[in-house]
Amino acid sequence: MSMLCLGIESTAHTFGIGIVSGEGEVLANAWDIYRPPLGWGIKPMDAATHHREVRDRLLEQVLSDTGKTLDDMDLVAFSQGPGLPPCLYVGLEFAQTLSGRGRPLVGVNHCIAHIEIGRLASRQKNPVVLYVSGANTQILSFVEGRYRCFGETMDIGIGNALDKFGREIGLEFPAGPKIESLAKGGSYQELPYSVKGMDLSFSGIVTEASRRVRQGQNKRDMCFSLQETLFAMATEVTERALAHTRKDEVLLTGGVAANNRLQGMLEIMCRERGAEYSVVPTELAGDNGAMIAWTGILVHRSGMRTISKILPRQRTDDVDVGWL
Ligand code: AMP
Ligand code: MG
Repeated sequence: MSMLCLGIESTAHTFGIGIVSGEGEVLANAWDIYRPPLGWGIKPMDAATHHREVRDRLLEQVLSDTGKTLDDMDLVAFSQGPGLPPCLYVGLEFAQTLSGRGRPLVGVNHCIAHIEIGRLASRQKNPVVLYVSGANTQILSFVEGRYRCFGETMDIGIGNALDKFGREIGLEFPAGPKIESLAKGGSYQELPYSVKGMDLSFSGIVTEASRRVRQGQNKRDMCFSLQETLFAMATEVTERALAHTRKDEVLLTGGVAANNRLQGMLEIMCRERGAEYSVVPTELAGDNGAMIAWTGILVHRSGMRTISKILPRQRTDDVDVGWL
């Protein structure tokens, strides 16, 4: 085996550790998700405490899953940003401890890791990417050295939008999967639709859907209508990016990529435009350490140097992509 990288994810709700080989084989991938109290969003300090509590157990687990020791690791990669500073610190601290004795430490942009793990699984070369997660929603593609952002949310990420609405109707975090199943029995009620050029705005729609439920409208109908509206908006902008860039591959990635309805909408759009559609496998969709490990390998091979600190506000398009 050419090289082994241990990757650490800790940007927000999830603490994860993965081990990936230089050939792109995911050898282990373990995580534990912080759950806020019912009615709350993520409390950053509590999430960081959670991460400190679970990290040693997860490390033991990935080492025993692979039958390896820390000494077998050639590289240690960590999620550098964007994310919640208290959570990012736990990852950096742990990565510094584990890298020790001259083993390279590689900082990875979390959003780019979602793209690269999707590209690894799909074998796509140069897709338009719809990256949909809790905090982020971006339509990206590689142009002249960087993943350029063609459109993005102007307020909250699509996963946060679902989680906020879920909180309103009494669902626990993460609400996305529960809304998906409730939506199955629902019918369509019109909601505001908010695409501004190539950008998206979700929070007003969540406010309106929540108001309607408080006024007595059927929860299933609102779950269905919210999904239809938010996913149609994201699909519309992805289609326009595909047309403008003249590319012929689309990759869906991030935690919300696990949603069947969103997958279906993008697939239809791609079929109609003659583009190849691909979605990240569900077990690699949410935040995880394997995506950080794999991207760490790409960053390391490209010879890029890492500054050993967290970058809570780093944007996807701030990062030079030396491996493409
Ligand atoms: P990430 O931040 O990439 O780990 O993604 C987490 C987000 O994905 C949370 O906001 C979840 O509610 C959302 N999510 C997970 N599974 C689904 C699903 N099946 N449908 C919609 N959203 C989902
Ligand atoms: Mg994420």
